[in-house]
Amino acid sequence: MKPGVTNVFVTTSDCSTLVVESISPLGYTINKASRYKFELIADSKLIMAPDTIRVFDGLINKIMVTNKGNKVLISVDIEYPASYQIKLQRGIPERLEVSFERSFIKNAIKDKVIVIDPGHGGKDRGKRGYINLLEKNVVLDIAAYLKQHLNFYGAHAIMTREKDVSMNLTDRIQTVALMEADMFIGIHTNWDSDKNVYGAKGTYQGEKSKILCDTIIGELGKKLRLKNLGIADDCVLTGISQSQYIQQIPNVNIEVCTISNPVEEGWLRSPVFKERVAAAIMNGIIKYIMDGIYTMV
Ligand SMILES: [Zn+2]
Repeated sequence: MKPGVTNVFVTTSDCSTLVVESISPLGYTINKASRYKFELIADSKLIMAPDTIRVFDGLINKIMVTNKGNKVLISVDIEYPASYQIKLQRGIPERLEVSFERSFIKNAIKDKVIVIDPGHGGKDRGKRGYINLLEKNVVLDIAAYLKQHLNFYGAHAIMTREKDVSMNLTDRIQTVALMEADMFIGIHTNWDSDKNVYGAKGTYQGEKSKILCDTIIGELGKKLRLKNLGIADDCVLTGISQSQYIQQIPNVNIEVCTISNPVEEGWLRSPVFKERVAAAIMNGIIKYIMDGIYTMV
């Protein structure tokens, strides 16, 4: 009897690992189609339904699992060319693991000082959702997840506020200059008087910031399918434009989704959603840095 593929998924930590589970040991061939695509053909039948699995962990974008003749084709879209290692884990189920190296991502972001600014706080509640969710609280959660993710990769991420406290613009700017930050990421939510409006948007100052802003909004669209409402050269924190220092570094304000839309407000109540928003923002930051590295070559 032919082995059957029962499950395909990705785990992400030091590596992005493609895991293929089957009921008996898998025979396979590697068919690396290009630098950005990895293909594995398993001598097996497919027991799970054919599927496209959206991963977007900063290295693996998507996995397509399909039938190919009497075999199974597992096709992996990767964001950057990466080396990989294959391991067979015997057991029930049998597991074939393909681990893609992520250390180059770590190297790119390592020691970068990134100031994360959760907007508003304390008396300044920011915008309010249809069902009373407050912007100041959700942006603090997202910022905390983002800090956690970035620091895991060896960056030096700092939040302008860690609690629900009032903060003025001068304090926020001072953190950036004091820490000699490489990047400033403000976290906000969009608001519209029309509750049918939904999606993400961003503001920035200057050309470098424009690319960063565009990249982050793009990653929110890829990972979470959030609608792109566009970006504008107009910093929400207008006071910041008075700071000499911040103008020299990429600085953006990201309105991650629209709190005035009841559906997106509902999503913003979910810790899983907020964590994924943070992961998408990090993917944008990594991509911005990596693209800079690649174009310098
Ligand atoms: Zn705001």
